Amino acid sequence: MLKLHPSIDNGFPPASPGFQGGTLKCKCATSPVTVAIDAQTAHNHACGCTKCWKPEGAIFAQIAVVSRDKVNVTSGSEKLQIVDPSATIQRYACKDCGAHLYGRIENNRHPFYGLDFVHTELSDETGWSPPEFAAFVSSVIESGVNPDRMPEIRARLTELGLQPYDCLSPALMDAIATHIAKQSGALPA
Ligand SMILES: [Zn+2]
Ligand SMILES: [Zn+2]
Repeated sequence: MLKLHPSIDNGFPPASPGFQGGTLKCKCATSPVTVAIDAQTAHNHACGCTKCWKPEGAIFAQIAVVSRDKVNVTSGSEKLQIVDPSATIQRYACKDCGAHLYGRIENNRHPFYGLDFVHTELSDETGWSPPEFAAFVSSVIESGVNPDRMPEIRARLTELGLQPYDCLSPALMDAIATHIAKQSGALPA
């Protein structure tokens, strides 16, 4: 059986109505880093890029966004470090176990400024927004997946209800382009 991601392979429940968030915990058995997320997430998706954190053995990451003012490190902040300070998204990872706790964009002109990227599988709570699509699917080849497996991978994603895209979903690509057009003046702000 093809393993995409442990939170995706067996299907996933719908979001719980009125869900208010939960606590993300890194993989350390003792003194884990904890991050409180005080809201439901949005735009959850499978991501095949090489930058998002993936659990052991997973081909894809699962990642969602939430307003940055709803994200608070509640313990273990001394163990957090930025994976790649030059990247657009500053991914804060636990230096002991490697799990990414949140990703943040500091460029206030970026279309996704104000949104943090989180892996809700790091929480014990259930009710988070489920994955809706698969992004950067072709990029899994960059992580070493044999290109011959791509038809099987795309078919499985489709079967799970996760439309595969090789960039982001059309809705998010349109949102990015609209933001850029308003900044450039091509569209009224
Ligand atoms: Zn850790
Ligand atoms: Zn990614």
